[in-house]
Amino acid sequence: MTAKTVELLAIPDPAAGRLHGLRPQFVDPRVERGFQEASLAETRSGIMLLATAGMIAALVTLYGGWTYLPHDHAAYLLGQGIRTTLLLGSCAGMIVALRARHHETLLWTGSLLLAVGCLTLSLRMTTPPLADAALLEALFHLNRDGATLLLILAVAVLTLIVGHFMLNALLLALALASFLAIVNTWPSGVDNTASFNYAFTTGYVFVLALGHGIQRIRRQVYVTRLQLQEANAQLLEQATRDYLTNCFNRRHFFTVAEAELDRAARHESPLSIAVMDLDHFKSINDRHGHACGDSVLKQVVAVVQNGLRSSDILARVGGEEFCLLLPETDLVEARALTERLRRTIAATRFRHGDLELDMSASFGIAQCGQDERQIDTLLERADRALYEAKRAGRNQVRLAAEPTSVTSSKQ
Ligand code: GH3
Ligand code: MG
Ligand code: MG
Repeated sequence: MTAKTVELLAIPDPAAGRLHGLRPQFVDPRVERGFQEASLAETRSGIMLLATAGMIAALVTLYGGWTYLPHDHAAYLLGQGIRTTLLLGSCAGMIVALRARHHETLLWTGSLLLAVGCLTLSLRMTTPPLADAALLEALFHLNRDGATLLLILAVAVLTLIVGHFMLNALLLALALASFLAIVNTWPSGVDNTASFNYAFTTGYVFVLALGHGIQRIRRQVYVTRLQLQEANAQLLEQATRDYLTNCFNRRHFFTVAEAELDRAARHESPLSIAVMDLDHFKSINDRHGHACGDSVLKQVVAVVQNGLRSSDILARVGGEEFCLLLPETDLVEARALTERLRRTIAATRFRHGDLELDMSASFGIAQCGQDERQIDTLLERADRALYEAKRAGRNQVRLAAEPTSVTSSKQ
């Protein structure tokens, strides 16, 4: 299991996926951060889209301002300045969107683009009605086209750009307040101020609701994805682990062994396997019951696992029979390791309730030969060595070394 999976597995506590009523953000800030990180690519493309729209709007309005506004008015210079800022800001926004690694950077870029975009769309595009109009009146005039564009821009930001809902809602509220002030203070050019106010406010509320709904759906999809990942990880765990002892199972052993055999052949590195069988285990069941046998099996696995490296694989391949896959280990090292395990098992007092039990194990070990490409033949040699260990009196390690086999001493 990768570190990422482990991290994700810690997250989906059902409460973590709950959303605040008015704020489409996860209650748990860690989940929110995870969601934002996972949505980085989408947020990036949202900002690219926004920056493209900003560029088009800036170019069109620059041309419009140049054509329709008297060039000697201060409002013309200020307005063209704001439009140029949007044009350059959009170019910069695209570069930032392409390069940014942190979600925060993307979020601020999106909001700044929205703010300058709103400002640009509220600039006057036609000749002011009065030649001597005040600067602000000559500068701002929000018509319906501008209002519609603003709302479209807002939908894009509130739905595509993740995690910035409150900030953008605030920006929009400020824009709304100032536009309504502009329209109501300088109503020239708006056919019907009341209907404009009504249409714009309704549109604004609609945009908020839409943005909220889409952000909720995106977060729910994210939670579902986390849950699916967790379920998959659990399934994988169940498919590779032994239900009783939680060490690997027979199937996983063979899958890993084939791969390790290939790797060892490619890198010409040593690989050994050990077969371990508990001695007279049946008598434990017969004398103390199956539950006691189960408990001893679990304890034996814990003892063995304690003495292994992280790269070694321990698998339960039969009732009380285990296999050890030992990468980068030659026969001499494998013998030292299994001898140590054998001694530890023999010296451990296994407990079940008030009972204290002694247990021993026999081992057969084999090192993968240069031309040995099949796990079956390697296993067969180790099994034969195990059989010899049993026949010789149990509680010992036998080597299936070629050409001769060496017997370790009994404790
Ligand atoms: P030997 O030293 O020759 O290996 O003797 P043994 O009694 O260990 O060998 P045998 O193969 O005859 O018996 C293995 C026993 O392991 C039989 C079965 O009762 C027991 N066993 C197998 N799987 C389990 C299990 O999951 N739980 C328990 N409690 N016992 C098991
Ligand atoms: Mg046995
Ligand atoms: Mg057995």
